[in-house]
Amino acid sequence: MRKTFSLFVLIICLSLSLFACSPTNIDVVYPDTIKNVIVVIGDGMGFNHIANAKTYFDDSVFAFDDYFTCPVTTHSLNSKVTDSAAAASALATGNKVYNRNISKFNGTNLKNLMEIAIENNKKTGIITSDNLYGATPACYSSHANHRNDRDDIISGQANSKIDVLIGAMDSEDTYAKYQTQFEVYNYKYVTSEEELLNTPSNQKIIANLNGLRSPYNASITGQGAFNNIVQYILNYLDNENGFCLMIENAYIDKCSHSNDLYGALCEVKLLSDIVNTILNFCSNRNDTALIVTADHETGGLRYTSDKNKINNSLYAKSGHTGANVPLYLKGCSVSGYKKTIDNTDIFKICETLITKA
Ligand SMILES: [Zn+2]
Repeated sequence: MRKTFSLFVLIICLSLSLFACSPTNIDVVYPDTIKNVIVVIGDGMGFNHIANAKTYFDDSVFAFDDYFTCPVTTHSLNSKVTDSAAAASALATGNKVYNRNISKFNGTNLKNLMEIAIENNKKTGIITSDNLYGATPACYSSHANHRNDRDDIISGQANSKIDVLIGAMDSEDTYAKYQTQFEVYNYKYVTSEEELLNTPSNQKIIANLNGLRSPYNASITGQGAFNNIVQYILNYLDNENGFCLMIENAYIDKCSHSNDLYGALCEVKLLSDIVNTILNFCSNRNDTALIVTADHETGGLRYTSDKNKINNSLYAKSGHTGANVPLYLKGCSVSGYKKTIDNTDIFKICETLITKA
């Protein structure tokens, strides 16, 4: 009896998560002027990562503070604590899936935001400090049963029609093995920031860079200066019909897994710089919406307002938690009481912005 009931509940949940398109928990006003949608994801960035970064850097505010909208729930279909794959699938497709699924559920590809943007004649791009096959960029650019199905993920990216894909090289230089496959789909394959910045905007690019540098943390080295690249890509993508861009800083999560608080806070500060670059791009225009959020919290980080108490013991664990994460929203206003929303609602906001334009 109990088993039948559980099965019944599971079927109801699946139907709701896969087919329902209920309105979001908040009232978003979508201006007609928006044609560009930029999603910035701080992997593992909880409320206290941001608050402690302000304590550490003596910054009373980060530029994106003005746009705080509401907290966001992050659970996956099978766990209160999500992994980056299920969380990014929710953000990229609006569907709850099992941990480790990459915008795919029970063998069915779930249409992602970039595919919707391409259908709407927008230019598209992904920039990540992770490897491009990492769960977050993979969910926005491909489909796979499991986050470890690299061949499926990378082949899907080569065939994705996304204009620009930028990520960090791994130690095996996995993407080098796929260079020809990308070239078949007219991608220029580049491995340095210089080559990237000299590529004209009518040329599709895959950039497999030896890391994206952080100005605050000397231990994170690489060929590409993250913020320079964001600046270049904003202009590269800018066009009459608009664009959709996803930017991920993966190192807030990576540093938090090893309870390296200094590293994590440096990466929050870098994320804030990237947001500043985007806000400058938006400064004299009203056609760009910006969404800043996280896929989940990592480390169960505690808050301190005392700079002297910033140390690794503020972490409660080394894994992800089920804590809510913040949503910052610029370019569309939210009226009424700002309730907690779900990460699938962020997809609905992005989808509406893209399809309305
Ligand atoms: Zn993680």
